[in-house]
Amino acid sequence: MEGRILDGKAMSEVILGRLDGEVKSLRRKGIVPKLVVIQVGDDPASTIYVNKKHKACLRLGIESEIKHLPEETRYEDLIDAIVKLNNDDSVHGILVQLPLPEHLSHKGVLEAVDPAKDVDGLNPYNHGKNLLGKECFQPATPRGIISLIESTKTELEGINAVVIGRSNIVGKPTAIMLLNRGCTVTVCHSKTRNLSDFTQKADLLIVAAGKPGLVKAHMVKNGAIVIDVGINRLEGGKIVGDVDFDEVRKKAAWITPVPGGVGPMTIASLMENTIRACREYA
Ligand code: NAD
Repeated sequence: MEGRILDGKAMSEVILGRLDGEVKSLRRKGIVPKLVVIQVGDDPASTIYVNKKHKACLRLGIESEIKHLPEETRYEDLIDAIVKLNNDDSVHGILVQLPLPEHLSHKGVLEAVDPAKDVDGLNPYNHGKNLLGKECFQPATPRGIISLIESTKTELEGINAVVIGRSNIVGKPTAIMLLNRGCTVTVCHSKTRNLSDFTQKADLLIVAAGKPGLVKAHMVKNGAIVIDVGINRLEGGKIVGDVDFDEVRKKAAWITPVPGGVGPMTIASLMENTIRACREYA
């Protein structure tokens, strides 16, 4: 058996096609959605992601601004920049690209983003609402992951879901969203002992560790849904996920490729959140 591919690229195209119509209809009313992405420093991977978001905005007719601040930006100046955007009526969505430089990373930068413009869903207010299962801006990657899983039409109630990774932007919110859908959720991380004891019981396995080759075929249950969130650039430039795709595909019912799985869905979810922020503001 070969698992079916969960094609995030194709699914994101469907979402972007729908959003294109929504932006046109907003523009006909004189409303132009606008997203501002703040990038501090010059992390090369961040530059790639920021440009992808920018391109997606331009394609849909969403106004897009990249606010590029120097690596040595002071905390106070970053907060000032965010507050200005919070108070700017022409801006509907604000995203602070992560990771921030070390001197800013442990400060409450994300708390400064107005929850109504927090289209990346990482302000503690939106995290809290997501935890409670209430309407909110959900973080883009977990939202994209859930859309991919739901497209398989699998009944989620009662299944064993294992999430590898406990970051605030992927692992934790994904685990919460699966819990809110009735899955029995286990969260594994770098301190987990005998990882395969958990993964082998997973009907649904989400891997967000950033470790190429972490999940091998013997760790996966027959017929599982496997979502590979990892993005790893190997020497030579090839991009791979965290899952040994070719071998695991032979056991899985569904599997996401890297690239072309979760990545495009993250962008599509961000666009959805931005247009929603604009609609709710207008
Ligand atoms: P992170 O470094 O913040 O978190 C990684 C998590 O994996 C940690 O909780 C850690 O405990 C766990 N982990 C690390 N090694 C492990 C191991 N050997 N066994 C079990 N758990 C282990 O990373 P993140 O921001 O959550 O991102 C994870 C991966 O997903 C990265 O490769 C990142 O590039 C990718 N990512 C992809 C998208 C996308 O749109 N596709 C979005 C965000 C992140």
